[in-house]
Amino acid sequence: MKENNLYYKSTRGSEKRFLSTAAIIKGIADDGGLFVPQAIPRVNRNLYELTGIDYKELVFLIMKDFFTDYHHDELKHCINQAYDRKFDTPIIAPLTPKMGVYFLELYHGPTLAFKDMALSILPHLLKKAAQKLNLNKEIVILTATSGDTGKAALEGFAGAKGTKIIVFFPLRGVSKIQERQMLTQEGENTFAIGIRGNFDDAQKGVKEIFEDPDFNKKMDEKNYIFSSANSINIGRLIPQIVYYFYAYLNLCSMGEIKAGEKINIAIPTGNFGNILAAYYAKEMGLPMNKLICASNENKVLADFFNSGIYDKRRELVMTISPSMDILMSSNLERLLWSISEGETGKVKELMNLLGEKGFYQINSEMKKKLKDFYGGFAPQEESRQYIKEVFEKSKYLLDPHTAVGYAVYKKYIRETQDKTKTVIVATASPFKFTKSVMESINIQYREYDDFELIEKMADLAQIPIPPGIKDIEKKPLRHKMVCEKEKMKAKIAEILNL
Ligand SMILES: *Cc1c(COP(=O)(O)O)cnc(C)c1O
Repeated sequence: MKENNLYYKSTRGSEKRFLSTAAIIKGIADDGGLFVPQAIPRVNRNLYELTGIDYKELVFLIMKDFFTDYHHDELKHCINQAYDRKFDTPIIAPLTPKMGVYFLELYHGPTLAFKDMALSILPHLLKKAAQKLNLNKEIVILTATSGDTGKAALEGFAGAKGTKIIVFFPLRGVSKIQERQMLTQEGENTFAIGIRGNFDDAQKGVKEIFEDPDFNKKMDEKNYIFSSANSINIGRLIPQIVYYFYAYLNLCSMGEIKAGEKINIAIPTGNFGNILAAYYAKEMGLPMNKLICASNENKVLADFFNSGIYDKRRELVMTISPSMDILMSSNLERLLWSISEGETGKVKELMNLLGEKGFYQINSEMKKKLKDFYGGFAPQEESRQYIKEVFEKSKYLLDPHTAVGYAVYKKYIRETQDKTKTVIVATASPFKFTKSVMESINIQYREYDDFELIEKMADLAQIPIPPGIKDIEKKPLRHKMVCEKEKMKAKIAEILNL
């Protein structure tokens, strides 16, 4: 074993430490906590030397310091398998200047959402990890989705030997196109199941199953082992750090910023995974001013950054940005760990409070360490107005999630007059949400359905239909399972024949 290995441990204080392969396979720690790296590696190269670097090379540079127990050529193999022609541009993550900001387009992968950035590589990392640990079990990926993770995970794992993937999504909680993407998924090892409940129900159900010792024992007897494709898996989080560096380097190459100049990043947020990756990038040494955390009406996070109180005791609101309709932002637990470092047991205490009472308040020491963040929210009407305004002024289409990011950025500018250059993370293609986008631009589009609007959108914006959803309405429906939110375990037992 090499020296200088990076270990992962639980946010909840357990002393056990794991190398990355084990942390990726396990997904979640035994005490219910999330795996965090014991230290965040620093970039020691002069960033400026890296301008013009290829996306895949950059992935390698960053990943090798986090996943130290993979050999370099193993990582390179995973990277080459992931970031290939599945993406509709060799640049992988283009940066488009519009409206005085820079949109970091993370939706050029096969399922048209930023989840592809990590879920195209996770199956390869996982497969390699299983091999390295001599794990002769079939890996069952269990995932709750608010729409985009589900499809990206199904696509990433479809046909992957030695794995099965089971995805639970809220019926009526995802867009028509998202639903169709999942229900038409090919691959004998894929299962997409609609539950009567919302995303938080799905996520809670999955977490309980992961932690159920009896169920895990049954799985073990049949030679199965669970793993997770949700952003609680460290194997998903680390690949997401890369595009923040990439965006920064692109701004340098474009001559928009000087080496060392700080930038803001605005991120439409749900489970707090994407923005946590940006925070890690900052900790690694990427020059950043503010991380703008944008929420929709489900503004638990905006309230948290403003008050230090996380309170999920409220009704989940269904919005036009369904991937952000979340009240339990799992990855915030990792931030709590970072800002309470040295105080073992603190995160566990807060998570217990959240479980028992539905809320917690952080102390003033911790709150001081949140100054890197700005939290805000935008109601639906505001996002719709910005979709219209940005299209009319610059012929650029925002999806409803990206529109939330843009709206909260505008609010931040109104409040602060900050002149720092800002990157807005574009998390999904507008083609995934044709109905809400087109209706926002012109109410006359109301009479068409989501699928008819795919072509209309392409005509209006004069851009080609992305290959991932071309003719999607004609593909056969392969998944028909539906279940009550209390019956998720039984459904899995049925699928796996337990
Ligand atoms: C998942 C998702 C988000 C939220 O990202 P988190 O990492 O969960 O905060 C935002 N927008 C889109 C389109 C998504 O798919």
